[in-house]
Amino acid sequence: MSIQLCANQRFKAAASAAALSGKGMRVTVIEGPAGSGKSLMAAYLASAVLCENEKTRPCGVCRACRLAEAGIHPDVIRPEKDKKTVVSVDAIKDLRRDAYVRPTVGREKIYLFENAEYLNAEGQNALLKLLEEPPEGVRFILLASSRSLLLPTVLSRATLFTAESVPPEEALAFLRARFPDREESLVKTAVRLSAGVLGRALEILSGDGGEREKALSYLKTAARRDEFALYKASDALSRDPSSDPRLFLDALRELLLLSAMDAAGLGYAGEDTVPRFGKEKAAALADVCSGIRRWLDVNVAPAAVYTGLSASFASLLEA
Ligand SMILES: [Zn+2]
Repeated sequence: MSIQLCANQRFKAAASAAALSGKGMRVTVIEGPAGSGKSLMAAYLASAVLCENEKTRPCGVCRACRLAEAGIHPDVIRPEKDKKTVVSVDAIKDLRRDAYVRPTVGREKIYLFENAEYLNAEGQNALLKLLEEPPEGVRFILLASSRSLLLPTVLSRATLFTAESVPPEEALAFLRARFPDREESLVKTAVRLSAGVLGRALEILSGDGGEREKALSYLKTAARRDEFALYKASDALSRDPSSDPRLFLDALRELLLLSAMDAAGLGYAGEDTVPRFGKEKAAALADVCSGIRRWLDVNVAPAAVYTGLSASFASLLEA
């Protein structure tokens, strides 16, 4: 099985072709917002290039593919010291020397700049000579939130790709497989709100699953505007030994913020998601969660916290 990179068919085909022919994509620039899959694309290209398989690259099973996918292949070099600092010109000078040294284990070596925007103009200029004519068996991959952050002289030497947004059906299938235990409506909401940026959906769905499920079920009860059912729900929560009121309130607040975003028209349109209360009301309910969460700091008992929550929700939803 190969690296799970959704969408981006044209990129995958180009990466495989370049890896098999040994031609093209010596310098590759990939642009896209955070969470759009740039790093996965880089891992895909790196495994394709370093793959030990003769016919299919990347094969996804050989040692080189597995090392590249895990981000630990010794011939994939990340010149950035950390992710938020400008790469020094000295570091580029070291790189210029290093580029002429043979790869450690594979046929080629790859310099991967995960945040190429932290290469300032000076650094990019220092790289230019290498990018013009990379030494034999050397490739460069530059990731950036936007190509406009790179110098035209750098771009003119590169093959450019934009991380594609993932179509809703493909995102849904991927996330269902990744989170088989998550409630369907939550997965659908994540898909809608991510607007094709899969990393965002992953962020929404990771985190504490248990409390999130409980919070979602509580919200569904709230959406029925049935005061009696709400008190029953808070009673059940206070008797549930596995329930952590802080985590529950955080999860509840998060879902309400999603619901508010949803009501504001962000994400894809669709049915069967987090309950809707309207933008203002969802935001007001989220505020209630933050307010009630502070009760815990002054040692109010969880049972009273849950009851207070239901009372506030009931009166807000009635108004
Ligand atoms: Zn392989």
